[in-house]
Amino acid sequence: MKKRISKRRATRRPGIGRLALFGVGLIGGSLALALKRKKAVGCVVGVGRSRANLLVARRLGIIDEIAADPAAAVKHADVVVIAVPLGQTAAAMAQIAPHLEAHTIVTDAGSTKRDVIAHARRYLGHAFARFVPAHPIAGTEKSGAGAAFASLFDGHKLIVTPEPATDPRAVKTVTTMWKLAGMHVISMPAADHDRVFALVSHLPHVLSFALVNQIAGYADASALFKHTGGGFRDSTRIAGSSPEMWRDVCLANRDALLAALDDYLGELERVRGMLEASDAQGLEQCFTAARDARARWLKPQ
Ligand code: NAD
Repeated sequence: MKKRISKRRATRRPGIGRLALFGVGLIGGSLALALKRKKAVGCVVGVGRSRANLLVARRLGIIDEIAADPAAAVKHADVVVIAVPLGQTAAAMAQIAPHLEAHTIVTDAGSTKRDVIAHARRYLGHAFARFVPAHPIAGTEKSGAGAAFASLFDGHKLIVTPEPATDPRAVKTVTTMWKLAGMHVISMPAADHDRVFALVSHLPHVLSFALVNQIAGYADASALFKHTGGGFRDSTRIAGSSPEMWRDVCLANRDALLAALDDYLGELERVRGMLEASDAQGLEQCFTAARDARARWLKPQ
């Protein structure tokens, strides 16, 4: 008898029985599709702000059910994934907290981590130990269920930022889920995460939005845009991203982003000084250093 049980366990498919998805957009929708591709989830139930988006998600096979309300969504859920814009995270946690079952694991996909952890500590109560803060380092500038695709996470990194109180078994479940979705998982403290992503993600988005606004602000903007080429298009692709999402990211990571912006302004001042002084050697050295650093970064390992 013992043997039969262990054999059955050994052959059991890894995965999640019931997944509740708060926010069925690019990230949440792509996670559902990636897990379905591997047959690693039984049923995905979606909760959202927009009924039209949820209907699209069901038609596309991203979700199997539309929940009537947050309480119904988390009923019998093994895992709850919060993939809403950061400004909605606290409200989503407050809505689900009273209805979470003792075994349910909660995780998120937010681009910042200290604020999300603070909300979880405040709203999830005892379930805080089963909350695993996570951030998939993959995305596009598109939003909504229609933008989701199964291979979004393939080969990319997922960062988890567990707290000392986080149950290691919950971390394992969430780690396994994202690995099944195609990701490599790494762990780091939340404060390190927020500093790193202020520099390599949040700052570039702010710069991209600012650059487009600068050009759009000139009286002859339409003529200027007509003359743009590949360089302008490449540098501003991410200005096509969701303003709501990036408003929330900037505010959630305000201190780290302000520090990153100050350093960037310092770099600009340095370039401006060289230009003002017609310092050809300085400019060339500056551009060469950047080109070389970029080449080292992109060099195949
Ligand atoms: P998205 O706009 O595509 O999807 C968010 C979805 O949440 C929308 O469908 C919206 O209707 C829904 N929603 C909004 N408020 C809600 C609420 N109160 N309850 C339930 N649903 C609600 O956004 P996204 O790109 O999927 O981003 C989701 C999260 O993932 C954000 O926290 C973002 O920081 C993070 N993230 C985004 C990227 C990216 O590149 N887009 C990458 C990594 C992480």
